[in-house]
Amino acid sequence: MDKGILDADPLEPPGHGHLFEDFIENPARHLSTATKGPGVKLKAIPLNKVPALKKTVALHKVSRFPGFVCNPGTAAFRNKYFPHTPLKEWNDWQWQLRQRITDVHELRAILYLSEDERRAFADTGKKIPFAITPYFASLLDRDNPSQPLRRTVVPLTKEHLLSPGEAEDPLEEEHDSPLPGLVHRYPDRVLFLATDFCSTYCRYCTRSRMVGANRDACSGRNHWDEAVAYIEATPSVRDVLISGGDPLTLADESLERLLMRLRRIPHVEFLRIGTKVPVVLPQRITPSLTRMLKKYHPLWMSIHFTHPDELTPEVNQACTRLADAGIPLGSQTVLLAGINDHVETMRKLFHGLLKIRVRPYYLYQCDPISGSAHFRTPVEKGLEIIRGLRGYTTGYAVPTYVIDAPGGGGKIPLLPEYTLGQVGEDLLLRNYEGRVFRYPNPEERLQAADQRSSLS
Ligand code: SF4
Repeated sequence: MDKGILDADPLEPPGHGHLFEDFIENPARHLSTATKGPGVKLKAIPLNKVPALKKTVALHKVSRFPGFVCNPGTAAFRNKYFPHTPLKEWNDWQWQLRQRITDVHELRAILYLSEDERRAFADTGKKIPFAITPYFASLLDRDNPSQPLRRTVVPLTKEHLLSPGEAEDPLEEEHDSPLPGLVHRYPDRVLFLATDFCSTYCRYCTRSRMVGANRDACSGRNHWDEAVAYIEATPSVRDVLISGGDPLTLADESLERLLMRLRRIPHVEFLRIGTKVPVVLPQRITPSLTRMLKKYHPLWMSIHFTHPDELTPEVNQACTRLADAGIPLGSQTVLLAGINDHVETMRKLFHGLLKIRVRPYYLYQCDPISGSAHFRTPVEKGLEIIRGLRGYTTGYAVPTYVIDAPGGGGKIPLLPEYTLGQVGEDLLLRNYEGRVFRYPNPEERLQAADQRSSLS
């Protein structure tokens, strides 16, 4: 089991020296959303006013290399709500899992809950499980229920409303499951649901029908054995996406057992992990984990990011460790009403991701899972965001906007209208500024030339 990630580790990648320097020199730049941000009532706390923060900074100096950062807003939160927890313990990912906030009483101790939030917990009926790591809780605004990060993890009563077109499993993953915990929709790749457990539950989760149901249900040996046997017997599968739940909540040994078995299958060329752990539990990205992961290349990782306020020094350090281990990182972001549905918010997120070596990969239209209408935007909003990015920023910062088609149709990309039509042999194209250009379409020209020669 991974314990004590601040313990000396001579193989710790050195990629974060600059971050520590910046943190030590300019700690105010790293204040979390608990202490800054639009619409937040709390004011930025000057360092000398934060109780015991100087002591925390001193601790960071002691543990700065090797070790894990702790941004000042989070440090203030730890001092206030976990005053007897040493930094070393706070940075132990298993301590973070044990100390998750899992009920309304614990949540009330750290947030002023709105009437609607309180009623959401009282409401009976099927609910998405509730849990937040102490680290992620430290990023939530105590006073503002509309704060974007708070909206992603704290339930509202609207979760209990079923709207037209919504379903428990709108993508019909179960229909494409030859076995429990394995989805085989596309010919050459499978989705391996390694666990149903997440460290922090998102209120808009596509797999809300299964997450948090029973930790052992998906990670039991029987399920894995059968799923691996299916892949072994299916030579068309060249790509395995390990997801869940969150596979990075598994112990190193369990995850390695799975990676090893998959890597041994000759026709599996490519492994991927889908996770939100680097965002909600960055302490999990330990040197021992990255050393283990790099044995199973080519291994790629898709990380679920939602908002630029998630881009803390801790997340920076986690992604740097993964990137330094040679793991190509991509982001997946769900478009969420009132949370990230602005061009500027997305631009900030995607620019921030590139700085920590995460390539914005997919922007998803929110799936119509039960009780998610308050999260969904019109599709035009997604197109507006792509239109506001394409041409105005680095191409790497522009993800592909997709709808995962209800009924199991798979991902369908959506683009603003850049092709206006055809004039004669030329295509009429509109650029990002709205200017129209002609492009001589080679195929059409060839066909036209053929017609001319056959007439002559
Ligand atoms: S981390 Fe992923 S699987 Fe877990 S609750 Fe969030 S969206 Fe669902």
